[in-house]
This record gives sequence, structure tokens and C-alpha cells, in this order.
Amino acid sequence: MRESELLEHIYARSAGIRASGGWAVVVGPGDDAAVLRSPKGDTLIVTVDQLVEGRHHQTGTAIDLIARKAVARSVSDIAAMGGRPTWATATAVLPPGFTRADELFDRMAHWAGVWGCPLVGGDLATHHSPKHPLTLTVTIAGVPERGPVTRSGARVGDGVYVTGLLGGSLDSGRHLTFDPRVHEAAGLVGVLGDRLHAMIDLSDGLGRDAGRLAAASGVRVEIDAAALPMHPGVLDWNAAMGDGEDYELCFCAEGAVPDAIEGVPITRVGTVVAGSGCVVEALGERHDVSALGWDH
Ligand SMILES: [Mg+2]
Repeated sequence: MRESELLEHIYARSAGIRASGGWAVVVGPGDDAAVLRSPKGDTLIVTVDQLVEGRHHQTGTAIDLIARKAVARSVSDIAAMGGRPTWATATAVLPPGFTRADELFDRMAHWAGVWGCPLVGGDLATHHSPKHPLTLTVTIAGVPERGPVTRSGARVGDGVYVTGLLGGSLDSGRHLTFDPRVHEAAGLVGVLGDRLHAMIDLSDGLGRDAGRLAAASGVRVEIDAAALPMHPGVLDWNAAMGDGEDYELCFCAEGAVPDAIEGVPITRVGTVVAGSGCVVEALGERHDVSALGWDH
């Protein structure tokens, strides 16, 4: 089963899910993070993500970079909801004989602190198989700056925007050193307010992720290939939209949007229209790119 099919199954099963103890599920499975409301009215954003050796980083990657990426991926999901990270927990499954767990957790604690979500707990297990990949899981909770901003609020006529530059993340090593767009997301929430309709972070590539946003919102996203902001060395729209692991923000907004936020450029790359899927127009031809990029 493909990851996308499995996730669809989980989302379908979770429709109408309710938490206990008077907590309300504001946003359930299917967005960048879940959103819960306490009986007293406090809103909590929660996300969890894994980092698997051989999948998300190569064997032999520096411990600090592994720890950094494990935390940064979840921080990015909190940012994508327009949230501010507040605390983190982490687990690790170690291959037998792995001797650097102390360093690993020290560095995860360091990076969690950098992004404002101190590591408050965790767990450790050693696998019996020497073939078992080093596997980290990081849960991060956050609070919304306002909102939260989901994937499902895009409206026909909205502009579609991305922060930063796209493409080449794996080849360049940027997938290990990216800065999750926490301050930028907070800035956007502050500047755009209710005109910020939908947001997602780009983990699997703009084609697939904008396709997810389009599906959640019941709209079509049309991308202009010529408008895509690409890292130097990224050759075409296919790479910019399909390489994945950019961890930039893609958002849909109404009205004027600034050219930059917190010093990071913002580029309009398309428009929300009626329909479904994510389509790119390149050299007069249209391509459905909803399935471009990573399917784990
Ligand atoms: Mg995400």
C-alpha cells in the first residue's frame, strides 16, 4: 500500500473523531498537525514525525544534523498551522551497539530549545537486529498565533505563494540544515490576518503538497512554472516542484501580500481556481502535478 493510500484510510476512519475529558478535536488527521481545544478553551496544536536512517538521512550523517532534522521537521509542521512551538518529546529506536544516544538526545534537546520547544520527555529502545535503521520520533506541541491556519481554507481567487526558494534540497544537503519557517509563519499570520486562508509546509514537493491543499480545500491550484523561485542549479519546474524536502511554506491568501517576511522572499506562484488537483502551466502546456514528488 502506498503511503498516500494508507493515509486516506486513516483519515476516513478518523472522521468525526472525539477526544475524551471534554477536549474537542478542532482539526483531526489529514492536516500538518492536529488541533485540540481544552475544556477551558485553550487551543493546542500537536504533530509527530519520524526520521528514519536510509530514508530521511544517509547512514553516516553527523549526529547533530540527524538530531536537527528530526526536530526541524516537526517544528515546520507547527509553523504550517500558524503556530508557535511550545514543548517537545522524542523517542529513538537504536540499532544494537549504538553508543551515541546521549549525544543524540543532547543535540535534539539543543535544537528543540533553539526553536522554543524544550524537550520535556522521551523514550529509548534498542532493537535486536543490526539491520534496524536508527529511527527517531519527535512530537511537538504548539499554540496558534491566531487561527489555526489549516490546509482546507483556500478560496477561489486566492493567490498561491511560497516562501524562499525551491528544489535541490537532497542534493545540496539543505534537507539537513533548513530553518523551519516559524517566525515567517507568525509574521504572515500577523500581516495577513483573516486574509491568510490556507497553509502547508513543503515536505514532499510543491506539486504533491499543493495538491493536498487543493484536495482539502475542494479547489484547484494552478501554478505558473515561469514564476517558480528556484535555488541556483535547479534546472526546471519538474525539479522545483518534485524534489521535495524544501520545508518552505505554501499559502493561499486574498489581497496584497508582502514581497518578503522576516527577510525571506515571498513569491506568488499561482492562483486558486474552481476544480480539483494541482496543475502547472509550462510553455503553454498544462500538467497535473498532484502526484509529483515523494510518496514514501
Ligand atoms: Mg507538513
